Amino acid sequence: PAPAPRKPGMLGRLLGRGAAPEAPRRVLDDEMLESLEEVLIQADMGVETALRVTANMAEGRFGRRLSVPEIKQLLADEVTRILDPVARPMPIYPNRPQVVLVVGVNGAGKTTTIGKLASQFRAAGKSVMIAAGDTFRAAAVEQLQVWGERAGVPVMTAPQGTDPASLAHDALTRARTEGADLLLIDTAGRLQNREDLMAELSKILRVLRKIDPDAPHNTLLVLDATTGQNALNQVEVFRKMADVSGLVMTKLDGTARGGVLVALADRFGLPIHAIGVGEQIDDLQPFDPADFAAALVG
Ligand code: GDP
Repeated sequence: PAPAPRKPGMLGRLLGRGAAPEAPRRVLDDEMLESLEEVLIQADMGVETALRVTANMAEGRFGRRLSVPEIKQLLADEVTRILDPVARPMPIYPNRPQVVLVVGVNGAGKTTTIGKLASQFRAAGKSVMIAAGDTFRAAAVEQLQVWGERAGVPVMTAPQGTDPASLAHDALTRARTEGADLLLIDTAGRLQNREDLMAELSKILRVLRKIDPDAPHNTLLVLDATTGQNALNQVEVFRKMADVSGLVMTKLDGTARGGVLVALADRFGLPIHAIGVGEQIDDLQPFDPADFAAALVG
């Protein structure tokens, strides 16, 4: 079942409990459009995207009387149209090992997502390795080791304070020697220290590319849905530091603000590979635009 990215019924409250087809029809007028915009903005879709969604759904229908289910379906269709082009699983390349660099601010869910991904790829028969590239935070390394055990995947670590680029180098070398299919590399997410982080990431990239000019093959940015519009800034920042190739949105189980995903798709067009819907190892799902849109408009 699709996760509900927001409390169901918000649109229902706005439109009355009239989900039944026989409920009174509503005139699609300026007042109605403004109310719909307001609901979408509250769901964190952002003003720009909310305006576009309502304008598109009203096109050719302004002044018509529509049933509540019709209004919901029209909104959901518009949202789906924005999301469809970006809903793409993480591409798998023939390269071995395929190097996946995972970036994002601390707390976004990088470690958890790496554990979930490792488990999924293992279940698909791939040999996977993890590199604990946030060598600064001992807790992050320990956490990753726990996930590695859960997923049945080796985790390469280095003593606290080791240069992450040196760990990345050793990890890729070992993954090549051992013929791994996939190497997932965790990174630090200390945005307070932006210059340091940028230097750290670019050094990791340099070192990886020295070994394999195509590495990293994927650079995943992990975003926390509960940070709302902040996620947009994080994309801007991390795109400058690394060549972000796709997004994973976490914590969609615990938020009424999943609309930021629509804003992200609308603004950046980056692929959304998967969504996190819980803290357990199986709580990473493919991103399904129609389900997501239906849950969002509730
Ligand atoms: P990192 O600092 O980016 O590595 O973030 P973590 O992976 O340590 O995650 C931070 C917190 O968010 C942890 O308590 C995770 O259990 C939690 N978390 C991660 N992904 C999800 C998710 O999809 N849903 C929920 N509810 N919690 C999540």
